[in-house]
Amino acid sequence: MFTPVYIVRLSSEITLKSERTRPRFERTLLRNIDYALRRHGVRGYRVRVVPGRIFIYGATGIERILTRVFGVHSVSPAVECSFNSLEDLASKAEEYFRDYVKGRTFAVRPHRFGKHDFTSIDIARVVGSKLKPYSRGVDLENPEVEVYVEVRGGKAYFFKEIIKGPMGLPIGTNGYVLALVSGGFDSPVAVWYTWKRGVRVDIVHFDLAGLEQVYYALRVIKKLIDEWCYGYEPKIIIVDFKRIVKLILERVREDLKQIVLKRLMYRAASILADKLGAEAIVTGESLGQVSSQTLRSLWVSEKPSKYVILRPLLGFDKEEIISKSRELGLYELSSSVKEFCALVRGATATWPKPEDVDEEEAKIPLDEVLEAVSNAKVYKASEIDLEKMLPWGSLEIDFIPENTILIDARSRRDYEKWHPKGAIHIDDVDFDKLDRNKVIIVYCDRGVISLVLAKQLRSKGFKAFSLRGGVERLKSCPLVSTHTLQ
Ligand code: ATP
Ligand code: MG
Repeated sequence: MFTPVYIVRLSSEITLKSERTRPRFERTLLRNIDYALRRHGVRGYRVRVVPGRIFIYGATGIERILTRVFGVHSVSPAVECSFNSLEDLASKAEEYFRDYVKGRTFAVRPHRFGKHDFTSIDIARVVGSKLKPYSRGVDLENPEVEVYVEVRGGKAYFFKEIIKGPMGLPIGTNGYVLALVSGGFDSPVAVWYTWKRGVRVDIVHFDLAGLEQVYYALRVIKKLIDEWCYGYEPKIIIVDFKRIVKLILERVREDLKQIVLKRLMYRAASILADKLGAEAIVTGESLGQVSSQTLRSLWVSEKPSKYVILRPLLGFDKEEIISKSRELGLYELSSSVKEFCALVRGATATWPKPEDVDEEEAKIPLDEVLEAVSNAKVYKASEIDLEKMLPWGSLEIDFIPENTILIDARSRRDYEKWHPKGAIHIDDVDFDKLDRNKVIIVYCDRGVISLVLAKQLRSKGFKAFSLRGGVERLKSCPLVSTHTLQ
């Protein structure tokens, strides 16, 4: 009698659109929902669309997926049934909800669409009186549980909760941009808010300091895309800016280094946008958050860009950004993206003169930027394999990747004095049982003994590395301070 169904409510941004434009938004939302469900292996479901709602039949446990699709206002796992009178409706509601209200205070929340010979208030009244004997009484203000009854024509829908979705507009309805993403707290959140406005985003990451920086940034970017990007597969573009950073360090005035770097990033992004046909550039900059983000600095640094620079976080406090980052499940990963590029030791100019910045920027040949852009590596999100990125051509590594087995090759005494959570002492390792599919990192005092061990392990078919720089290096590795290793 009760058919399980998910009720998906469309965000008001969609339902408020004119009759003429709304179908396009609805179609895109449906396509994105389909994309999301398929990516999570959900098949064989059926969809029915009515104004402002989508009904999904024949699937279970999909609320977490649906509430991550932009354009979804909210979702309710519900049951559908037919009824032929108000009395019949109330009896069915009684059957469905009686255990739910048992021993608790409750409130009926009715909703009615179409023509009926009763009102919403009638629904609340008759359903309420049927359920009351099972319950601890009606409490409209502060009920322990809520009983939702929605009526559409001859069908009724019963549900117990309304789970909020991200709202906004479906991705793909509002143009295409490039976002500059460092992987820190701000820029991933900025991408999320850009998606929220229905924009398709490709991601540009500048490699300023080498593999470790890129590895940690990609962990964040991958998670952000895996969990929130439904509708298309973003490109991730990695631009090698290490040479440019080196030139800036050598040639540019201390207080303008950061602004010049930002300018060159904008310049590179602008060229990429030309090539890819993007319509704007997005950053995680806020206003006044740090000394390089004064209104003046933003203006001076964005000058080389022909494109509108969108800064979705402009009005956010850092605290709000961090709390959003937590909500999106990115906080831990972003906190391991340290500021790899310590460009500036002294103060940064907060009131830079455009002509000074022009002069300093001119010290870096434009060809360097052009070359960096033309050598940029473009990946599809699904092609990124963090393990493959590790420096397999070498026995040494400078950082601790995720999901590794960490082996301590120092003396037992030193091991007992301090070791990171999860590290195993070499004498306790059973090499016959050691997992050949996992990356193994061996460390010692200075990285000499570990190098010998790593070599032996490699020759036996283990995916082993020696940590360059030994235990000192280990102590500064982000995963060691923020994560369990195994
Ligand atoms: P975030 O938290 O995003 O790293 P931030 O507070 O560290 O930002 P800045 O370092 O001034 O601030 O960077 C401002 C913006 O410039 C970033 O939000 C991002 O959009 C862009 N950006 C900075 N570094 C990079 C990088 N390595 N690759 C791509 N974009 C970057
Ligand atoms: Mg940063």
